[in-house]
Amino acid sequence: MKNNLIRKCLVFGTTALMVGLIFGSAVNAGIIGNRQVFDIDADNGVSLNLDDGITNITVYEAWDLLNDTSNGVQIPVDVRTNGEWDAGFIDTPYPESPIHYCLSLLQDPTGLQEFLEKYDGEDVIMYCAKGGRSWLAANILDGAGFTGTIYSMFGGTTAWEAAGFPMRGNEPPNEPTITGKTNVKVGKEYDYKFKATDPNEDGVKYFIDWGDNNTEWTDYHGSGEMVTVKHTWNEKGNYTIKAKTQDFYGNESDWATLTVIVPKNKALNFNLNLFETSKLTFYVRYCNIYFQLQKNI
Ligand code: CA
Repeated sequence: MKNNLIRKCLVFGTTALMVGLIFGSAVNAGIIGNRQVFDIDADNGVSLNLDDGITNITVYEAWDLLNDTSNGVQIPVDVRTNGEWDAGFIDTPYPESPIHYCLSLLQDPTGLQEFLEKYDGEDVIMYCAKGGRSWLAANILDGAGFTGTIYSMFGGTTAWEAAGFPMRGNEPPNEPTITGKTNVKVGKEYDYKFKATDPNEDGVKYFIDWGDNNTEWTDYHGSGEMVTVKHTWNEKGNYTIKAKTQDFYGNESDWATLTVIVPKNKALNFNLNLFETSKLTFYVRYCNIYFQLQKNI
């Protein structure tokens, strides 16, 4: 009987906390079982493990973790919707800049698997608007056997902003410039230079479609940094290089293009009029160009 009462209290307490977390009601401090719940309004909240493998942290602790790489690199994972993300997200310095991964993606087996393939073993700080969805997301990762450290930021962006920590929006990078030779030889390697700026000074990478069924992504580079990429066309023809810029947060520019001509060898006919009548014709090959000579016999 006593055990049943304790069990009911535990269930009630846990449920109350979950409801509070998800719907953002004021859960400032309390006891769940024999565990203390921290106060989100405290200047320095108390970390507490509610579940094995998940560490709940306050926005102050998150701020300290994310602004200092000497304590390792923690990746903030924003699990809010696309619309919430587009409206702004927490502003922390690279390489501890946030990534966006909706809760709904983590709830999908394929999405979860993709997340694990990319980030398993990393330290992640899950966050949302108030702390409910990040707590659920953290539990999904924990249940999937995530091997890195899982933090959940209690109070989410609401507490982050209330504490005076910065938020930011994101503008897409500008369309890149493409420079390089536009008349090239088949089978020979050429350098092409790509350059774009990002209004937020975010790191950018370039997607290049060479027009011959070869595509590639570059690594990330600084905004405005010139990037040189080599390419060789192995067939004659006209090719249109297409390139776009993507910033660190996934925003993309418009496409830029550059047409490159890889000419065919041409048989040029020259009548040099060496003689008044023509009886024999000689073809002379020079630098892959055939010169036609005519000789009187
Ligand atoms: Ca940007």
